[in-house]
Amino acid sequence: MDIFSSLETLGHEQLVFCSDQASGLKAIIAIHNTVLGSALGGTRLWPYKSDNEAVQDALRLSRSMTYKAAAAGLNLGGGKAVIIANPKTQFTKPLFHAYGKHIDRLGGTYITAEDVGTTEQAMAWIKEKTPYVTGIDQKKGGSGDPSPYTAYGVYMGMKAAAKHVYGSDSLSGKTILIQGAGQVAKYLCEHLYKENAHIKIADIFQEKALRLAQTYNATVVDPNTIYEERCDIFSPAALGGILNSSSIPKLQCKIVAGGANNQLLDEEIHQILLDKHGIVYIPDFVINAGGLINVSLELTGYNKTMAEKLVADIYNRVLNIIDTASLKNISLNQAAIFLAEQRLQLAALED
Ligand code: NAD
Repeated sequence: MDIFSSLETLGHEQLVFCSDQASGLKAIIAIHNTVLGSALGGTRLWPYKSDNEAVQDALRLSRSMTYKAAAAGLNLGGGKAVIIANPKTQFTKPLFHAYGKHIDRLGGTYITAEDVGTTEQAMAWIKEKTPYVTGIDQKKGGSGDPSPYTAYGVYMGMKAAAKHVYGSDSLSGKTILIQGAGQVAKYLCEHLYKENAHIKIADIFQEKALRLAQTYNATVVDPNTIYEERCDIFSPAALGGILNSSSIPKLQCKIVAGGANNQLLDEEIHQILLDKHGIVYIPDFVINAGGLINVSLELTGYNKTMAEKLVADIYNRVLNIIDTASLKNISLNQAAIFLAEQRLQLAALED
């Protein structure tokens, strides 16, 4: 892998390799853009098969964080880190202490948070070595689990999409199809149930879908035929890459609005295919920013009321993207990227 040409192509500022022989730490911190502020993004702990694979993941994920923070109106940049480790044997205090010291040396350019494979416990260990960490337990003054806020943002974005497509933001009587019955889905169901929406849900672990179905009067559907299910809104809450040439022609909905990251397998080709099928796709990095917004408030002293207010504003952000797309005759994804880049360019001029 030609690292410098990758950094240039994707527009990264810095790539940091961290090593500690005593604890076995092998980590890579990717700082994509700090024009709007410190690069905030989670640390993923994963048994990557090669260093190359880990670098590529860090580069890809950190770039998305720049756009997510810019689109959410936050004064934060984009960063992400990966630790190459076995989650069963290497999730240790010495490893996270060594990692915390590396973060500290960056002096606040990068601020970490939880991601796949890391937990509140990991963040607490990192905090023993550096203040540049978020995702701390609520009991210790942190923001706690981001999922309820991610779900709330998805719900508000869904309502804005419904207003655009159906002329009303009420979801009462609408059928919402959710892929995945995990953390985000659980809190999303709570909002939808309160608003008398009809929920259909699928999970590869049927018992998870059944559990939510019982609580929220939902219908469990087969995860293998989910794309063919009739619904008003399809809400991906499991995997990335699920909007592709195979799934899109099967979709029976007018709106896609969900919390999963990187839903479009190919950003250009599959956005065009969705447009061709008359499906309104609400860009994932806009609608799922609630967790990031919530965690970012730890930096200025966590405030739950403020978190709810800022996350609710995803409703207006989605409407703004819809207006921009129609004004410029571009897709919603392009409009969201355009608005994020506009913020970045303005900030760069002032820099
Ligand atoms: P989770 O692990 O709690 O839930 C995901 C669920 O999806 C699991 O129950 C899993 O069994 C199920 N699943 C996996 N493959 C499936 C398939 N093919 N069909 C149906 N179900 C399948 O994760 P989560 O925290 O709820 O996050 C869901 C998505 O939202 C992920 O893509 C995540 O990256 C994204 N996201 C989450 C947050 C957050 O705050 N949790 C924030 C931003 C983005």
